[in-house]
Amino acid sequence: MNHSQVSVIGSGTMGNGIAHVFAQSGRRVTLVDVNEEFLGRALATIGKNLDRQQAKGRLEEDPEAVLGRITTATDVAAVEGSTIAIEAVPESRDLKRDVFEKLDGMMPEGAILASNTSSISITEIAATTGRPGSVIGMHFMNPVPIMKLIEVIRGHDTTDDVTQQVMDLSRELGKVPVEVNDYPGFVSNRVLMPLINEAAFCLMEGVATKEAIDEVMKLGMNHPMGPLTLADFIGLDVCLHIMGVLVDGFGDPRYRPCPLLRKLVAAGHLGRKSGRGFYDYSET
Ligand code: NAD
Repeated sequence: MNHSQVSVIGSGTMGNGIAHVFAQSGRRVTLVDVNEEFLGRALATIGKNLDRQQAKGRLEEDPEAVLGRITTATDVAAVEGSTIAIEAVPESRDLKRDVFEKLDGMMPEGAILASNTSSISITEIAATTGRPGSVIGMHFMNPVPIMKLIEVIRGHDTTDDVTQQVMDLSRELGKVPVEVNDYPGFVSNRVLMPLINEAAFCLMEGVATKEAIDEVMKLGMNHPMGPLTLADFIGLDVCLHIMGVLVDGFGDPRYRPCPLLRKLVAAGHLGRKSGRGFYDYSET
């Protein structure tokens, strides 16, 4: 299936990027959010990012032509003609359940229902629908137009055919899909978050300064940025939440969140977005 008409639910950080890459691939996109203001902001962001791509010679057509393939809606009923929907609403079980129940009622038979969740079980989301075989994780990375990876997550009942369609579609977007099974944190966050958490333990125990910890990982392991800097980018609340998902999901104390991470979140020091996390951004 060519999936020439796609719907994206949620037009925030991830949703606008997902709409951007689908429209750039020549597909028609319906972008849904709860109000016009958010949708207007999303279109402005997509326009700015397309202009930047064009300035760098990385866009084959006029930005307006790409934008012209995106229509917006505040009513989820607008998904009706799409053969795939990608959900990118905030990371809340209740919100996702509500969206998937609606999508299940409105999407045509044979359509694919994908979630961009970073940590909620695809199997659990699928169970809220009457078509668990057609539900799959499409975990795009931020910023979507730049990052190559899509972690494709198979729920317990996701069919081979749906997985193959999503792998093919991801390649058509110019991305590199990697297939994984549905376990807590999938692969990306199961490996990344304990690394960040361990870096926080090193800082808390006085093993080294934050700068030293980041420098060791950058220069020694060839990471583009140190784990504490990366955590500030992601948001310390998001990191703490995912450690909670790992410890609950596996029941294994090795995933216990570092008390320093908890303390920073309790103090409201959430990273770049709050002006302070492991580092201070008040001057930047
Ligand atoms: P965000 O808060 O930036 O955007 C979410 C958007 O969804 C908002 O515009 C909101 O108005 C909209 N929304 C809320 N309820 C809705 C509904 N019922 N119908 C339609 N739209 C609705 O969130 P985000 O950072 O884009 O994250 C979205 C998802 O992507 C989450 O599941 C998150 O875990 C995942 N994710 C985020 C990142 C990241 O770096 N931000 C990376 C990978 C995955």
